[in-house]
Amino acid sequence: MGGRAAATSAGVDLGGSWFFDGAAPAASALAQSLNLTLFPQPGGGPMHRLASGLPAFIVALQRSIVKQARTLEIEIVCRLGWRLERVQHLQSSGEGEDGGIASCEPAAPRMRLTFVRAESDDAGDDDAAGIPWAEDGPLTHLSSAPSATAVPQDREWVDVMQTALIAVPPRLAATAITFEPALDRGSISELLAQPIWMGATGKVALTYATPWWRELPAHYDIHAMRVPGPGPVIQLMDASTHNDQAFVLVAFVAPQPSAGDWREAAVAQVARLAQTLLGAGSKPRVAPPAPRDIHAKLWATDTNIFCPAPRGLSDYGHPEPLDPSVAVHYNGRLHFCASEMASVAPGYIEGAVNAGSLAARAAAAFF
Ligand SMILES: Cc1cc2nc3c(=O)[nH]c(=O)nc-3n(C[C@H](O)[C@H](O)[C@H](O)COP(=O)(O)OP(=O)(O)OC[C@H]3O[C@@H](n4cnc5c(N)ncnc54)[C@H](O)[C@@H]3O)c2cc1C
Repeated sequence: MGGRAAATSAGVDLGGSWFFDGAAPAASALAQSLNLTLFPQPGGGPMHRLASGLPAFIVALQRSIVKQARTLEIEIVCRLGWRLERVQHLQSSGEGEDGGIASCEPAAPRMRLTFVRAESDDAGDDDAAGIPWAEDGPLTHLSSAPSATAVPQDREWVDVMQTALIAVPPRLAATAITFEPALDRGSISELLAQPIWMGATGKVALTYATPWWRELPAHYDIHAMRVPGPGPVIQLMDASTHNDQAFVLVAFVAPQPSAGDWREAAVAQVARLAQTLLGAGSKPRVAPPAPRDIHAKLWATDTNIFCPAPRGLSDYGHPEPLDPSVAVHYNGRLHFCASEMASVAPGYIEGAVNAGSLAARAAAAFF
């Protein structure tokens, strides 16, 4: 669960982040039902962010699922990716709660639900250095015949598959998972054609002592500014944390595969921009503000989220709604429900909530 959610320990999102006002009703309602705080974008843009960062959303959701499973006498094994386990651990130790929420064993389980995870260590994420890589492997093979279902390294799940909800970005699912019987070619083509939203990019979060970009004349809007190259930065956003506890600029990056140190190049590019903006007209030239803290995550190298587009297709295009029939197979027992499968807001956090709830409601009919 929760692949494209990643944040620094200060709650600065390195993956999905903004809830777009008016375009994220389901995600906002779900976050609020989990008692999470949404706060407005500094500078008044039409968006909100979670005070604790997006990972806390997934952790809270997992807790809620496990709690509900207990009352329904469902045995559930709910595994978070390692990044999120760390968030959960931090939250649990702060609150003195039980951190071992990954599984529960009610006395008389009526059904078993399993969440398979696939997250690896990523050298591109320096905030996560030293976190051990989870043992669970990715799903590589799925069969509609329960006895033939194979999930390497998670044998317990092998014989009990009744309904599968695959919340893996569709292009990646169609590339990395073998389906038995094979899915029709039209569906596979559609799944492969759907871009993985923001998957080819990354984020560099720069924390400063002061929000220098807010001190610029009003017509300098840091969000709309073209960052002069050469370099990997495509856009800047004020990602300061709740109540301005930390002043943060986030640089979206899209480095060429052959580029050298994209992180260093991004930091240098932002420094050049700051120097130009702050030092305009001054002599001697002002020194650019130096970030106190730098965190980065390049999603393009995370093979559990991103795989390059097939020939002739784009890595960067925005997902468009797919024909709903592409999402459902094996007489309703297999559902693709990552964000990119949503008919409303595909690619966004809102799309993930929409596609997930729709698939869960449909799958519930089998129990
Ligand atoms: C840099 C960046 C910025 C973004 N900004 C925003 C934003 O501001 N607002 C917004 O609304 N959205 C944003 N998004 C998009 C948002 O993050 C996604 O829409 C959302 O997180 C998708 O959730 P998901 O559950 O569908 O998929 P993911 O979060 O991608 O989860 C997929 C999961 O599948 C797992 N997986 C992959 N292969 C396998 C396998 N074979 N077996 C088992 N598990 C597997 C992965 O490990 C992962 O946990 C951004 C994304 C990125 C990368």
